[in-house]
Amino acid sequence: MHPDLEHLIQLQGLDLAIDRARRRIAELPAAQQALEARLAERVGSVAGVKERIGTGQAARRDVEKELAAVQGRLSKYKGQLMELKTNKEYQAMQKEMAVAEHDVRAHEDKLLEHMEHAETFAAELKAAEAALKTEQADVSKAQRALDAERAELERELERVTTARGALIAQVPREALMLFERVAHGRKGIAVAEARDGLCTLCHVRLRPQKFNEVRRNDGLHQCDSCTRILYFVPPPSTGGAARPS
Ligand SMILES: [Zn+2]
Repeated sequence: MHPDLEHLIQLQGLDLAIDRARRRIAELPAAQQALEARLAERVGSVAGVKERIGTGQAARRDVEKELAAVQGRLSKYKGQLMELKTNKEYQAMQKEMAVAEHDVRAHEDKLLEHMEHAETFAAELKAAEAALKTEQADVSKAQRALDAERAELERELERVTTARGALIAQVPREALMLFERVAHGRKGIAVAEARDGLCTLCHVRLRPQKFNEVRRNDGLHQCDSCTRILYFVPPPSTGGAARPS
C-alpha cells in the first residue's frame, strides 16, 4: 500500500479516537449534574418530611394549649357549681360544663390524631434518611467513576494527539491538505473503503477504471461522488498468489 494512503487511514483512526474522547469528555459535566440532581431530590425529600413534622408539632402544641384552656374553664365551672343559688343558674352552668366537656373530648381526639401522624412522619423520616444515605453512597461511587473516566479520557486524548503529531510529520503537505479538506466537508470522515465496486460510505458505484486503480492501493484516489479518499482491503488469500505487502 502507498505510504501516504496507509498514513491517512491511520490518521482517520486517530481523528475518530480524538473525536470520541472529546465528545465523551463534553458529556461528563451533564452526567455529574444528573448525579447532583439525584442527590438533591433525596435531600429535598428529607427536608419535606422534616417540615411536615415541624408543622405537625406546632399544630399539636396549639391543640395542647387549647385543651389546657378548656380544662381550666371546666374546673373553674366545677368550683363555681356549689356557689350557685338558683336552680336556673345551676342548669345553665351544667349546660356550659357539658359544652366544655365536649370540647375537651374533641381536643383529646385531635391530640391522638396528631400523635398518630407524628408516628407516621417519624417512619417516613427514617425511610427518607435511609434512602438519602444509600443515594449518597451510590452517587459518590458514580462520581468517582466519572472522575476516573475523565482522567482516563484525558490520558487517551494526550496519547492519541501525540501519535497524531508524529504521524502527520510523515505525510506530505498536499496529501494532508487533501485529507483535511475532505474531512472538513464530510463530517470528519475523509477516507472510505471501496468494496465490490462501491464506495462503502456514499454507496455510489465507482467507474470500473477508478475501482481498478483503487484496488491497487498505489496512491490517493477520490470517490467521484463523495470525494473521500478510497482504499481497498484485498480479500484474504485462499491459496492463490501471496497477498502483496
Ligand atoms: Zn463515496
